[in-house]
Amino acid sequence: MSDLLTDVLVVGGGPAATWAALKAAEDGARVVLADKGWCGTSGATAAGGTGVWYVPPEPAAREAAMASREGLGGYLADRRWMARVLDETYDRINELAVEGRYPFPTGTDGQPLRGGLQGPEYMRRMRVRVRRAGVRILDHSPVTELLTDRDGAVAGAAGHRRQAGELGRAGRRPARAVPRLGQRRHLAGRRGRRGGAPPDGERRRAPRPPRGGGTRTGEVLPYDKNYLRHGEGLSEALRSLDAGWAQLRARLHGEGAGLVKARQAAAMTAHARWMYASALARTESRGMARRLDHPEQDPAQHHRILAGGLDRVWAGPAAGRGTGVAV
Ligand SMILES: Cc1cc2nc3c(=O)[nH]c(=O)nc-3n(C[C@H](O)[C@H](O)[C@H](O)COP(=O)(O)OP(=O)(O)OC[C@H]3O[C@@H](n4cnc5c(N)ncnc54)[C@H](O)[C@@H]3O)c2cc1C
Repeated sequence: MSDLLTDVLVVGGGPAATWAALKAAEDGARVVLADKGWCGTSGATAAGGTGVWYVPPEPAAREAAMASREGLGGYLADRRWMARVLDETYDRINELAVEGRYPFPTGTDGQPLRGGLQGPEYMRRMRVRVRRAGVRILDHSPVTELLTDRDGAVAGAAGHRRQAGELGRAGRRPARAVPRLGQRRHLAGRRGRRGGAPPDGERRRAPRPPRGGGTRTGEVLPYDKNYLRHGEGLSEALRSLDAGWAQLRARLHGEGAGLVKARQAAAMTAHARWMYASALARTESRGMARRLDHPEQDPAQHHRILAGGLDRVWAGPAAGRGTGVAV
């Protein structure tokens, strides 16, 4: 077990994580970045070309950019967030060009083309910048658990350092942060607790995948269930996933690398259940959410859906409505 004290712990190694780590370090914080892969090659951006929402701060151009996304999203997008994303993207891409020396191509008019990035080159440069800023990078270190202090505030995280083959904790006060030290806790967690990483020295049974381990992907990947969505198929898939969750709850344990796999199985199952519960709560077609049994858009459902829960999954309309124009 290794403990690291730090002001800021960033979990992940993609664009969001590297920019957050870089800015925190530039502000003078001690920063640790923990990535389950190798920072610079992990995440969706690092593997290919990526389009960037780079729009100059001219009112007409920004308005057109936001209007086009609102339509695609079924008029549920929040313009305040879109404006923040546009501002931030414009500033960071310009910073990448100047300080990161990213080799953006030049158009026939002699102007730089900043609407796209080559992921491998972009993320390679981000890793270099993050390291130069003094961030400590923990590669191959999947985080399995958030840790809280006595007040319940998140104060750090625990994970598995694959190459060292050991547990690790990092945060503001990691030594105080582990709740219920010394108690056996269940991998999938229990209501009201954060379950997962075994305390130092605790022994657990070897990982034992529950029966029907392919249930999650079997319910999520097929097009006829998850793309050509119909209420009956969604309900059937959700019932199967609920049963899978009950199995995980009862039987899934692990330690070391097995703990990571167990947490992944629990996370995928929880996510799949929220996804299908949300899809069932929207009895219309809107934006990219399509229902074969409800092909029309329903003006009465101009709201976002919130979902949550573990043993009992819930989904329903959020209090606020989309800020776009309903059609
Ligand atoms: C096929 C595809 C095409 C896309 N095209 C575009 C595009 O053209 N333009 C665009 O803007 N967006 C695109 N996206 C979305 C793209 O994924 C995001 O814009 C971008 O990668 C998000 O960055 P991120 O840092 O939030 O997440 P990611 O790039 O996904 O990074 C997540 C990071 O978190 C790490 N991680 C995850 N779990 C843990 C854990 N438990 N512990 C430690 N580390 C962990 C991963 O290793 C990874 O480094 C595309 C996505 C896909 C899948």
